[in-house]
Amino acid sequence: MAKANLTSMLPHSLKTETEKTLTRYTGKKIEIENITVMHGGSINHALKLSAGGMSFFLKWNNTAASSLMFEAESRGIKLLRNSLSLNVPEVIATGTAGEHAYLLLEFIQPGIPSETFWEDFAVSLAGLHRHTAISFGLDHDNYIGSLPQHNTRHDSWVDFFAEERLEIQLRMAVDKGKIASSLARHFGTLFQKLHALIPAEEPSLIHGDLWNGNVIVSPSGQGCLIDPAVYYGSREMDIAMSRLFGGFPREFYDHYNRCFPLLPCWEERMDICNLYPLLVHVNLFGGGYLQEIKNILKRF
Ligand code: ADP
Repeated sequence: MAKANLTSMLPHSLKTETEKTLTRYTGKKIEIENITVMHGGSINHALKLSAGGMSFFLKWNNTAASSLMFEAESRGIKLLRNSLSLNVPEVIATGTAGEHAYLLLEFIQPGIPSETFWEDFAVSLAGLHRHTAISFGLDHDNYIGSLPQHNTRHDSWVDFFAEERLEIQLRMAVDKGKIASSLARHFGTLFQKLHALIPAEEPSLIHGDLWNGNVIVSPSGQGCLIDPAVYYGSREMDIAMSRLFGGFPREFYDHYNRCFPLLPCWEERMDICNLYPLLVHVNLFGGGYLQEIKNILKRF
């Protein structure tokens, strides 16, 4: 975190709007005294705002889609919060000021992980995953990173996964020239096998983008989730994503499995689940993730 000059980091119209919103929210006159740039995110401006001994978290951007993205993120956070299963920041407000869109959240003061951090987090995530729905998908579309994520409902997870997740990202990658059509044909072969490879399970409410960077530590030492891309899907998507960039410690998976056992051979399906975030990464960041995709396709 680096201290930064107030006006260069926070446009004037946005500062005024934020102060008005926080004054309404706290019931006290709020004037921002300090801002700190928060690093780690790859898409938006992220700031810690300090005022009157309190801290708040502000994300802002002025791209065409930012307003819709923040609205979707706010709905996702509220859905997770309403599940009462795990810690997520409170949404204070979302809106626009001039050409700037913003999302204002409770600031999570970084804590030290408790001794039972991973056990508690596993229990909480299992609790979230026990929230179910009659079909896969969601009542609104949202975003994965900065890419649109379609949540049209399906009765079958495999159909949802193939049509709303893999095919859409694949088409985007082929259209952008990031994936050759020969590789796209390999996906076609995989699609035909998916029903045999993936067992049926009830829909679970999932975080949807559960990599290490989206688990922060609350002041009481508990896990707190940020940046969701929620929908009712296979809980194996969250478990797989958690292993994509470094992974959580072994004890997390042991505790999760004790609480809400994953279906037999779950570890063998992790790479299939991760084809989705890998395709998203190809579309967002380029070809560096292609080899991993090719390796997975060769195995199925
Ligand atoms: P982006 O939308 O650009 O991906 P993030 O949501 O990842 O931005 O936020 C950037 C960084 O700010 C994160 O890496 C995280 O450490 C921190 N952060 C996010 N939300 C909060 C919050 N509510 N309280 C404290 N820190 C946060």
